[in-house]
Amino acid sequence: MNNPRTIKYIVLHCTATPVNTSLESIQRYWKEQRGWGDTPGYHYIIKRNGAIIQLLDESKNSDGVYAHNSACINIAFIGGVDKEGKAVDNRSEAQQHAMFGLIVRLSDKYPGAETLGHRDFPGVKKACPCFDVKNWLKNYEPDLSSLR
Ligand SMILES: [Zn+2]
Repeated sequence: MNNPRTIKYIVLHCTATPVNTSLESIQRYWKEQRGWGDTPGYHYIIKRNGAIIQLLDESKNSDGVYAHNSACINIAFIGGVDKEGKAVDNRSEAQQHAMFGLIVRLSDKYPGAETLGHRDFPGVKKACPCFDVKNWLKNYEPDLSSLR
């Protein structure tokens, strides 16, 4: 099925939570603290073990990048802060591998879409996703041995 939206950006995020935070508690937070109702922050969320959970159909807008959501597919990994709440790239190898595979798949589906980090958008003051996306994409080599 064709997506009625024009996807210009594949945007990477972190949930800005400790790595062991459950998906359920993140969703509860969105709903109860931020009042987001049933619109999730991201289309896909990647758990510590590399499992990819789809929260929203790609034809719908999620709530990831202020003023750009209509053109974005938003992907987040669970994590992004350390015990003190400081921004850190604490993705597991399984998360990186899953993220990379998902980006490859979406880039194939939406040719011309650019993969960016949330912080790469103008005016964004947060550290999200807590790593340099362009640099990571250029240098990432999946460690296949760790996945067996
Ligand atoms: Zn973000």
